[in-house]
Amino acid sequence: MGSNPIPSASPAAPLHEPMPPTTFQPPQPLPLLGRAPEPAPGAEAPAYFVWTVGCQMNTADSERLSAALDGAGLRQARRPQEADVVVLNSCVVRQNAEDKVVGMLTSLKPWREARPGRTLALMGCMVGPKKDGLRRTYPYVDAFMQPQDFQPLIDLLGERLGIDAEGCVGPFVPGNPSVTTHVPIIHGCDKFCTFCIIPYRRGREVSRPVDELVRECAMLAARGVKEVTLLGQNVDSYGHDLPGAPDLADLLEAVHDGVPELARIRFLTSHPNDMSDRIIGAVARLPRVMENVNLPFQAGNDEVLARMKRGYTNAGYRALVARIRENVPGVAMVTDLIVGFPGETEAQFEDTLAMVRDLRFDKVHAAAYSTRPNTYAQRRYDDDVRADEKRRRLKAIEAAQEVILAEANAALVGSTQEVLADGRKNGRWQGRTRTGKLVSFDVGGAEPQGGLLGQLVSVCITAASPWSLQGAA
Ligand code: SF4
Repeated sequence: MGSNPIPSASPAAPLHEPMPPTTFQPPQPLPLLGRAPEPAPGAEAPAYFVWTVGCQMNTADSERLSAALDGAGLRQARRPQEADVVVLNSCVVRQNAEDKVVGMLTSLKPWREARPGRTLALMGCMVGPKKDGLRRTYPYVDAFMQPQDFQPLIDLLGERLGIDAEGCVGPFVPGNPSVTTHVPIIHGCDKFCTFCIIPYRRGREVSRPVDELVRECAMLAARGVKEVTLLGQNVDSYGHDLPGAPDLADLLEAVHDGVPELARIRFLTSHPNDMSDRIIGAVARLPRVMENVNLPFQAGNDEVLARMKRGYTNAGYRALVARIRENVPGVAMVTDLIVGFPGETEAQFEDTLAMVRDLRFDKVHAAAYSTRPNTYAQRRYDDDVRADEKRRRLKAIEAAQEVILAEANAALVGSTQEVLADGRKNGRWQGRTRTGKLVSFDVGGAEPQGGLLGQLVSVCITAASPWSLQGAA
């Protein structure tokens, strides 16, 4: 695996190691589906609706599936009830996400049963390698697809709509992407943290080749994308399974140098054990790689971390954050954490709270532990922290973080930030800073022809709240 253990507190090694050259080839056409037969005069093409819950990987998968269905001549419906084909892209990382999927599946049963020609497909992490249980529970669902496995639906639509899809499933690229989009670079996860269902549902790590990713980013840039976020459940372990074992630093450099039309490159999610000096060095050195690192710590207590099988300690994590901050000035640190892990005492929770207060993250994704079927934690540990206690701990984290963000954002008032304009809301432009902070801003004077969409704009910050910034360009 192209990874380093957590650095110790000893002086940091130089970060600017030379990187091996990468090859860039111009974009090549990617495979397309065949098309559905033209509708009869006056008739509309079949419509599809893709519903998505969960992480950015699911968003990216849904964008790619939608691109394939667009390419096949289907049109997008505004609501599931108006569609002929509905795909639910599911998440089961936490119980409340799974509950939403079950709610959608149940609510769509009458729609599916009202007309035999309709197609309902379930995709994503709710679908494991064994599908018999799901088939028994949801007999009205036509296709069950594991993450990124679009083939069962493609085959079914081939039969039902007469689409010639033989051997045509490839790395679909969104046909009409927004200014910012996601590019999955590694699928699956090898870590098997004891609370996590992902490795059981998304499988072992499989990286996509550097050249293929550079071509895809170039194609996205040609379609108007200005910012890509390179995605993986553990993005820092990218490449260890590829010939020559390129790492994330190599990929960042290849995309940075190979696609100069991209204004910004981000990546997530990192794992502390795989965040190497080479990756930190690439973020520090490449100007269009944003200084924004999403580095979950999950728990602040060493005993809890050991029971989670995270593979690092409180001190090791703190040393790594210090190392990143030392080498990447102004870097935004984002983290994920869990409260109420089985056996977590009040004192152990206080260690997590202290980590939040001490490290002053730019964003914290905090979640209450929920038992996931067949994980090590479900088999070995009692979910013994009461639900109301989990809520109290969650609120304590949120309250601490709100104070930190109020102070951090207030300090930005009067500064000028580079903002990528990605849309308008309530008559104002919106976008994000290099560090990922949301900014709403007004424009004095005339806007350039074609508007600001996709432009990097210098915005003077005039007001701040814990959750967003206001400004003027
Ligand atoms: S590294 Fe992340 S995705 Fe992988 S098992 Fe741990 S929590 Fe789950």
